[in-house]
Amino acid sequence: MKGILIVVSGFAGAGKGTIIKKLIKEYPGYALSVSATSRSPRPGEQDGVNYFFKSRDEFEEMIKNNEFLEHAEYVGNYYGTPRPFVEKKLSEGMNVLLEIEVQGALQVKEKFPDALLIFIMPPGALELKNRLTGRGTETEEVIKKRLQRAVEESEGIENYDFIAVNDDVDKCTAMLHNIIQSAAYTPKRQAEFIEKVRQDLKELS
Ligand code: 5GP
Repeated sequence: MKGILIVVSGFAGAGKGTIIKKLIKEYPGYALSVSATSRSPRPGEQDGVNYFFKSRDEFEEMIKNNEFLEHAEYVGNYYGTPRPFVEKKLSEGMNVLLEIEVQGALQVKEKFPDALLIFIMPPGALELKNRLTGRGTETEEVIKKRLQRAVEESEGIENYDFIAVNDDVDKCTAMLHNIIQSAAYTPKRQAEFIEKVRQDLKELS
């Protein structure tokens, strides 16, 4: 059976990175796609681990060559999902996680109607602001931009299939896993199995 393509989005500071890492560590069958970006690495980030870091020119060349499943511009930088890894892992039956923002998520939904879209919410707006400030890696101007962007992104949440509220990392990780497990058993994602049983029933009847 093919794996599920899972989009996980959330405002900057909502903790989606931490939750995805925990999900992959605690449960089998998940693969995380590493995106390409034109933004500069943050302290501690490694090329090929956190992102494939590219110049704007390199990124634009990759767009031209149709190397991305989706791509978008976010706060002045390009971000995109390289296609081959995702296709390979899905065909191997792995559930593939894309940690991407709202514009990219909508592109994925259009191209892959079976994709599962999940939005990680903070427990509240103030909590989000405090988390962004506490991270200490961004300037005040960037934090302000990210909060403005969060307002814009909040308009897109209704396009998602599920939200998961991150007031506790352990609980939110378990919730994410449960959502994915349940979503795997919707009829559209079990079409082959349903058809097989139907055919077998016809033969038996
Ligand atoms: P950051 O710069 O904080 O790592 O990421 C900024 C935003 O870009 C986050 O919302 C993140 O989910 C999103 N992002 C990361 N990789 C991709 C990608 O490949 N495609 C799209 N559309 N968004 C991405």
